[in-house]
Amino acid sequence: MDRRKCVVCGKKAVVSLPYGPHAFCRRHFLEFFEKRVRKNARENRLVEGREKIVVAYSGGKDSGVTLCLMKKIFGKSNPVEALLIDEGIPKYRDSALEIAEKNCRKWKIPFKRVSFEGEFGFTMVDVMRKTGPKKALGSTCSYCGVLRRKLLNRHAREMGAGKIATGHNLDDEAQSVIMNVFDADMARFRRLGPKSEKRKGFVQRIKPLCTSPEKDIIAFARLSNIRYFEQKCCPFRWQAKRNDFRETLDAFEEKYPGTKYSIMRFFGQAKEAMGEGKNGNVLASGRGEGKALANGGEKGLLGTCAECGEPCSGKVCKACKMAERIGGKADG
Ligand code: SF4
Ligand code: ZN
Repeated sequence: MDRRKCVVCGKKAVVSLPYGPHAFCRRHFLEFFEKRVRKNARENRLVEGREKIVVAYSGGKDSGVTLCLMKKIFGKSNPVEALLIDEGIPKYRDSALEIAEKNCRKWKIPFKRVSFEGEFGFTMVDVMRKTGPKKALGSTCSYCGVLRRKLLNRHAREMGAGKIATGHNLDDEAQSVIMNVFDADMARFRRLGPKSEKRKGFVQRIKPLCTSPEKDIIAFARLSNIRYFEQKCCPFRWQAKRNDFRETLDAFEEKYPGTKYSIMRFFGQAKEAMGEGKNGNVLASGRGEGKALANGGEKGLLGTCAECGEPCSGKVCKACKMAERIGGKADG
């Protein structure tokens, strides 16, 4: 509890934002939070026309808040649905998706649930068994990410989605920017931002919460009574590197509030310096405006996967190659 007063109404504050500095009562914090998401959506043209928004919903706080706000902000003009992917991680994803299904029913949001097992013939437990002892096969998380992205794209497309909304927050984005700097990975660096580029066969992805710090999302979920799966770490989490960046950035944020927003403003400036400005993708911040980022026009793809027909740049897509290595169906 914060002893300060709400900057809007002077009532007792329940949330204070060190990067602001602002303090808010419940009502005005919820308003402030929603306004920031609306601003991100408007300035970066995250949603266009009456297109369908499909939210990738894991049952966690980020995607739960994304779904709830997409419905609230766009629900009157755009169909909003949820897509639940079950990777087959016992006592983790199954519990989270139980909450996700309950929330979808409560909010009257249509949803579709698909699983690695049904689509590929194996679960993440099988992947873990194969990749765990043999590092050369690649880390568990990279399998999980590639296979999940494939199912998200395919099923969102089949659902008629104009956009896939994910729950990426400011912390995720700032970590990704710094990780790409440390890895000198300019290609990935350029792909970051609130909206993915248009590519044939791929449903464009949007990140409505990418200007919202994780702590604010937790406060929003709690103050809005959004139930979410709280277990922080997946038992298969091998992303040791990202965890290191998370801890380091959190420590910086604690000592120098606003650091994560500064990283994102720098990212915006870098993109603009590369000549990728102008077309929206403004990264708003709690302490002012970021710079415009570009998201370009439609980029053609080279072809489709010979195994599954999904868009890909080589003969066979990465997901099919991975599925084959694990020994499942390649055409998930
Ligand atoms: Fe998948 Fe790794 Fe995330 Fe677990 S931590 S859900 S294995 S990507
Ligand atoms: Zn394929």
